Amino acid sequence: MVRAGAPVLKGTFRMPSGLHVLGRRKPQGAEIMATPPPPAEPTARPAMPSLSAEKWRQLAHWQRDPEKGAAIRSLLGKAWNAPNTAIGLGYGLAGYGLGKVMGKNPHIDVRKDSIQFTNNPLGGVGAITLGNAVVFNGNPYDPHDSDGPDWTNDKAMSPLEAARNAEGHELQHVKQGEQLGPLYLPSNLLGGAYSLIRDHQWHGPSNWNERGPGANPPRPWARRPQ
Ligand SMILES: [Zn+2]
Repeated sequence: MVRAGAPVLKGTFRMPSGLHVLGRRKPQGAEIMATPPPPAEPTARPAMPSLSAEKWRQLAHWQRDPEKGAAIRSLLGKAWNAPNTAIGLGYGLAGYGLGKVMGKNPHIDVRKDSIQFTNNPLGGVGAITLGNAVVFNGNPYDPHDSDGPDWTNDKAMSPLEAARNAEGHELQHVKQGEQLGPLYLPSNLLGGAYSLIRDHQWHGPSNWNERGPGANPPRPWARRPQ
C-alpha cells in the first residue's frame, strides 16, 4: 500500500543496517542504491492499415449502395450476355458493311446499355437485338436520315417518341439477354415459333419474349393478357 505523499520508487535500497533490499518504496532511513530504468515503451508494431471510422462508414455504405449493386449486376449481366453480344456484333458489322455498299448511311453508336447499329439493312422488319447489340433497320433516332421502316407512321408518334419507344422496346431485349445469357436465343426462337403457330405472327401474345417489351411501359417480361 502506498501512502499519499510517500515517494513511489522501485529499486534497490540500502538500509541503515547495510542490508540491501529490493522494493517499491524507499524504506525509512534507507539510501537509494539504484533505480531500474523505466520499462521500455513497447516497440511499435508494423503499421497495420488502419481505417478511420469515416472510411469504415464509407465502406459499409459502398456495400449497401444500391447504385453500386446495380452496377455490379449490370457488369455480370453483360458477361453472361457476352456470347449473344459476340453474335450481335458480328451480325451488326456485317449489316454495317452491307449498308455502306448499298449507300444506306449506316451508323454505330453506344447508347445506354448497348451498341446500336442504325440504318442497317440486317435489322429485319424493325430491329433485332442480340446480346448488348441492337441492329435497327433504318434510324429511329433520326427519321430524316432513316433508310428503312418509318418508325413514326403506324403509331402517330412524334419522332422523339418513336425513338424512345423503339429504344425502350429493344433495351428490354437487352435486359432479357442479361438475364437469360446463352438461353436468350433458344427462348426467342421457341417463343417466336410458338406464336407463329398459335397467333400466326412472330410478335403475337403467345411469344413470351415480346409481351414485356411490347407492354406500356416496356419491361423485360409480362404475363399473357387474360
Ligand atoms: Zn421485340
